[in-house]
Amino acid sequence: MEKKIGIYIHIPFCKTKCAYCNFYSLSSSEGEDKLISDYQSAVIKHIREYSAQLDGYIIDTVYFGGGTPSYFGASRLISILSALKKNGHVLLDSEITAEINPGSISKEDLTKLKRAGFNRLSIGVQCADNSTLEALGRGHTFEDAEETVEYARQAGFQNISVDVIFGLPSQDKELWAQTIQRVAGLKAEHISCYGLKIEEGTELYAFKDSPFFPDDDDQADMYLYAVEMLARFGYKQYEISNFARRGYESKHNMKYWLGDEYIGFGPGAHSYIGQCRYSFTEDVGEYIKQVGDDHTIVEHDEQMSDFENAGEYLMLRLRTTHGICEEEYYDIYRLKMDIVLELLHKYEENGWAIFKDGRWRFTPMGFLRSNILIGEILEAQTKQRNLISKPWQMESVAEDVQMTFFDKRPVTASLFGERRLIGRNEFS
Ligand code: SF4
Repeated sequence: MEKKIGIYIHIPFCKTKCAYCNFYSLSSSEGEDKLISDYQSAVIKHIREYSAQLDGYIIDTVYFGGGTPSYFGASRLISILSALKKNGHVLLDSEITAEINPGSISKEDLTKLKRAGFNRLSIGVQCADNSTLEALGRGHTFEDAEETVEYARQAGFQNISVDVIFGLPSQDKELWAQTIQRVAGLKAEHISCYGLKIEEGTELYAFKDSPFFPDDDDQADMYLYAVEMLARFGYKQYEISNFARRGYESKHNMKYWLGDEYIGFGPGAHSYIGQCRYSFTEDVGEYIKQVGDDHTIVEHDEQMSDFENAGEYLMLRLRTTHGICEEEYYDIYRLKMDIVLELLHKYEENGWAIFKDGRWRFTPMGFLRSNILIGEILEAQTKQRNLISKPWQMESVAEDVQMTFFDKRPVTASLFGERRLIGRNEFS
């Protein structure tokens, strides 16, 4: 049977640069029309070059992310999707998503996208307070977001996701509560809720020490408030930052978290296929040039070992409420997780993890500190491997045993579990 795969298409253009964004994207002053057209041709050419590789797969998710795919334009998005359909086996009921910004796409273009097969929209709403949106350079209001959702519904979209951010400058708990309530009022099927990270190279970075940013405690309260309120509005948390009505979890993003295969096209796009991770050059100009010149545009590649894959199982699945399972882990990787389990029991005592239906997963309190907890779990996994490869370090199972040497003299020796077995064979 052919395997399923997800496709990611990166659209690295935005109308303007938002104050908090460190994604690779060119704003309109740099992204002239010619560059955008050349980019469209390069991606299509690149997809054609991949047709032999795509042949062995069924494509069941396609995700156009960015950047701002809606700024790139509906016709261009449709031309790339058509190229994918011509060169790969795109399932009729594939989940096909486009990220769009409020106010950046007309009702007519939304209708065009829907007719071409797009069936999911991810809308960057970010917050409900217009002065904060303006300070972030978003170029739209919350009312624009309401209008875009309305247009999307009229165009026939029945699967809409909206993004919101907490921890924004001057955003107190009251403003965050208003955002959650107004965003829930949009009645989208899916909500992504991210904590602001102030990254170097962004406009906001210069203000990183400003008292206008909510502190860590406030941010933690905002996160927990969102988890609780969204549940009341009918959105079940299924990943650290993602909430959905039943059946509307993002199939594409789940591929990343479950370690399934995907191929990315575009500068900086990542792929995971055949146990290999690779990514392309991040520079749009280089990408266009090198796809055209038939050069390799792979910038990083890495063949994943079984142990690394096992680490990803722990790291990625613990981001989800599906969590991890001792038997599943052993069946896939033939590895034990005793030391990891010891940690999970400790987390359970602290209210950070729960064990249910044979699986371990983090609670919302655990998700809040998941970076630290997952780091500890990966350390525990390495410790477990070292024990297996160096059994003489297994002090905890060392014990005194009685043995008999060739001359029948009984001796007492302190041996370790695994070595004792060997000893018995050698000496008896
Ligand atoms: S629209 Fe999105 S990708 Fe573009 S600058 Fe703003 S946050 Fe970044």
